Amino acid sequence: MNIILFGPPGAGKGTQAKHLVNKLNNFQVSTGDILRKEIQKNSEIGKTITKDMNDGKFINDEIVNKLIKDVIFDPSRKNRFIFDGYPRSISQAKNLDLLLNHSNQKIDHIFFLNVDKETIIKRIEKRKIIEKRSDDNLNTIIKRYDKYMEITKPVLDFYSKNPQFNEIDGGLKIDEITAKIDAFLNV
Ligand code: AMP
Repeated sequence: MNIILFGPPGAGKGTQAKHLVNKLNNFQVSTGDILRKEIQKNSEIGKTITKDMNDGKFINDEIVNKLIKDVIFDPSRKNRFIFDGYPRSISQAKNLDLLLNHSNQKIDHIFFLNVDKETIIKRIEKRKIIEKRSDDNLNTIIKRYDKYMEITKPVLDFYSKNPQFNEIDGGLKIDEITAKIDAFLNV
């Protein structure tokens, strides 16, 4: 089963992704994590993206699409993906469709965790203290939210027509969101 978790930064996608990974024995695909790893490795891609990551800017589609390709074509993970933070643009959504088609896979569920800006700001501020993520200062949060609205909103419109699409109130408590997702999955 392939699942897309969708929603603004700080909506709780990562937390729910980890839950689904344990429950379904799936694999989390977080492009944020993949990109942060490139920076840690100090790879060529890592060097190119450091500034944009720290500024809360989107990394260009070409780089992200390239990194995701190997993951999707890995036969040991086929049909067991939890996408967290991807796709984030129409180009990425189309690329994902293409890669899934070519690897004989499909999207089974799309969950949109909908949450307002104030809640997100409070949550990310908390995460900043706990996880010490350098990109999580207030200005960056606002930039990331605005960028999400600008670029990712069209992806939401694109997916909301899909019969696999479900919207969940991301302002609920973690356990309540988990219960709603589980109910949709019937697990
Ligand atoms: P995240 O961990 O999902 O909150 O992502 C952290 C940062 O990584 C974002 O602010 C972007 O700079 C970058 N990023 C993660 N996923 C993507 C993506 N699918 N497309 C472009 N940039 C991304």
